[in-house]
Amino acid sequence: MNEFSNFRQKLEEEKTRLEGELSKIARPNPQVKGDWEVSSPDMNPMISDSNEMADTFEEMDNMVGIEYQLEERLKEVVLALERMEKGTYGVCEKGGERMDPKRLEANPAARTCIEHSA
Ligand SMILES: [Zn+2]
Repeated sequence: MNEFSNFRQKLEEEKTRLEGELSKIARPNPQVKGDWEVSSPDMNPMISDSNEMADTFEEMDNMVGIEYQLEERLKEVVLALERMEKGTYGVCEKGGERMDPKRLEANPAARTCIEHSA
């Protein structure tokens, strides 16, 4: 048991949750590791109403936004887990100093300390 096992658990849980959310609206891109693509909504060929079509496109737009946020967050979480493997977890990427545990408590995937986060 190391000092970060608590954060690792949080990150693993968040990763599982994010992947679950993503898999509802997207699928992993087989070409690019870590990349997800929004799955096309089931286009109903019976839709002739242009309003309904517009709704579908709007929904698609929203999904792309949500997918992007989930994917970005997932990348942060995966990077944090990789830093744990490498032993660089908890070190500020900009200043190189050890981060305040409170900072990691608030965001276990944080890459920089509060001072360097701007
Ligand atoms: Zn820093």
